[in-house]
Amino acid sequence: MKSLWTAKCENDLLALRVYTSRLLGQEPALVLHGGGNTSVKANISNIFGEPEDLLYVKGSGWDLASIEVAGFAPVKLDVLKKMVLLDQLSDTEMVRVQRAAMTDPNAPNPSVEAILHAIIPFRYVDHTHADAVVTITNTENGAERIEQIYGKRVLIVPYVMPGFILAKKIYEMTQGIDWAALEGIVLMNHGVFTFGDDAKSSYERMIELVTEAENYLESQCAVTAASGTVAKENLLEMARIRKSVCDIKGAAMIAKLDSTAVNFSNRADVASIATRGPLTPDHVIRTKSIPVILGENPETDIADYAKAYCEYFERNTSGQLRRLNAAPCWAVWPGFGLISFGRSVKEATIVSDIKDHTIHAIQLAEDLGGWKALPESDIFDVEYWELEQAKLGGSFPIFQGQIALVTGAASGIGRACVEALHAQGAAVVALDLNPAITTCFDKKEILGVVCDVTLDESIQAAVETGIRHFGGLDILISNAGNFPASEKIAEMNPNNWDESLALNLTSHQRLLKACTPYLAMGIDAAVIMIASKNVPAPGPGASAYSVAKAGQTQLARVAALELGGLGIRVNVIHPNAVFDTALWTNEVLEKRAKHYGISVKDYKTNNILKTEVTSKDVAALACAMAGPIFAKTTGAQVPIDGGNERVL
Ligand SMILES: [Zn+2]
Repeated sequence: MKSLWTAKCENDLLALRVYTSRLLGQEPALVLHGGGNTSVKANISNIFGEPEDLLYVKGSGWDLASIEVAGFAPVKLDVLKKMVLLDQLSDTEMVRVQRAAMTDPNAPNPSVEAILHAIIPFRYVDHTHADAVVTITNTENGAERIEQIYGKRVLIVPYVMPGFILAKKIYEMTQGIDWAALEGIVLMNHGVFTFGDDAKSSYERMIELVTEAENYLESQCAVTAASGTVAKENLLEMARIRKSVCDIKGAAMIAKLDSTAVNFSNRADVASIATRGPLTPDHVIRTKSIPVILGENPETDIADYAKAYCEYFERNTSGQLRRLNAAPCWAVWPGFGLISFGRSVKEATIVSDIKDHTIHAIQLAEDLGGWKALPESDIFDVEYWELEQAKLGGSFPIFQGQIALVTGAASGIGRACVEALHAQGAAVVALDLNPAITTCFDKKEILGVVCDVTLDESIQAAVETGIRHFGGLDILISNAGNFPASEKIAEMNPNNWDESLALNLTSHQRLLKACTPYLAMGIDAAVIMIASKNVPAPGPGASAYSVAKAGQTQLARVAALELGGLGIRVNVIHPNAVFDTALWTNEVLEKRAKHYGISVKDYKTNNILKTEVTSKDVAALACAMAGPIFAKTTGAQVPIDGGNERVL
């Protein structure tokens, strides 16, 4: 590991604290997603001009990678130092007393390790969960190995619960010691502390200590990285696994398959080594203690996992706690790799990052004589620690964790549907013929895929790309279509007829066919067909369009009959006069209005309600149909046209 220090002549204490915190935070082998904490001690004059000794310590909820000055909580140092002398202190009391000792009531809650930072007699204190060091401590004779590497240069602290108990333990262990002789503190099964009177020396001591551990691992272990050949996925099975996990979770989840980890998943001893415990207890709130190991029958394995989780809870609970959801956060899928689950793409990515580091550490530790995690009671204490639980939670929008596929998604109604579904929490696979689809949504939860829906193989490939990316499919909005130029039946060019039927009818059937096996594994699965007012009220010159749309509607009605038994709802929207689409330029609008001798505004609102229907309105109806409002409706056709006398 290399020092990333490049700062020249900074001398602002806090600016340097932010700077090296970010250097630590951007190295995933040191801290992952909010792990670790840092501090700086400063003597600051208060509003009365009186100097005060303060500890600026990382605030709870901040990530070292992106922390700012506002992310550090200023706490009176003498109060923190007094707190360590207490015989005991509950978490709630600790937070209350620390908040009361803050000089800025708007600052975040101080890190749970604030007291420990306070008692280390150096200006700068850095704490990480460095993979290399923690890996070595998670072995049979980890403490001896640490001593072999560092000698007396570090204080080795046996595992205890983080927070007050850890601070108290280190306070007791360091009475009368010569701090100047120490370069750091290694916390068994947890992490490393370094310190120094300037930001650079504290940071670079961390890099040096971790590098020594890395060098040791390199000299002792054969494993290089958790890589391997990419396995050919079984996407249908993947969607089935996702469904089983979602059923236990009681909520929709994104499932992220990592097929590069197939070598790990294929290890003969995987069921043993992957189920001993996490890399560091801090991870348990994201990943649970262990993954589910999938075998011949994943549904049974997932159900057994949930049962075992409930038993683990019962074995360890004091009776005062509420059990967390029993669903696994990640899965080992021999032959295929690893799957990470999350309520959002972000959450699944965090789980995926943590499992990458975990499996790498497990394999290294196996080379060192055996991966050994903490006893389950220690893991449980952190998993059900009120301060850790506070980091999670929150309420979710209605489509959170659901996966939708929308065609004709680059513009008009399709685009509005993508945006509305995404705004309500869904991950969306957005298909369009227009290559701009791959760049027009700059969001992790929206995957743009170029697709010609008139080509079977193009549909198949696009659907598979979507499943591979998000893990399943719950909502299909079959929207792609076009409105051909007006042509009387007697004058119809047969190619125009065929083209309209291919796009406006057949493509919907092909897409529905490709999606059905996945929708059958979906969560509250729903299909929405975007048809047209032309179905109930056709117009002359539009036979190629109206016939196709009538066919699409009939397809939806038959699909409602056929798919209801699989729990898939199929409903139809008949929009009319939606002018904010690619079809309708201002020029065309003016021409049409002139044709009828009315203004553009009157032309746009030429309906019973005298209202303009927009793509957003149609998208809102599509979302309603995909959501709980239409949970008990299938085979319905709903117009959205401002009221049309011919449709009523
Ligand atoms: Zn820690």
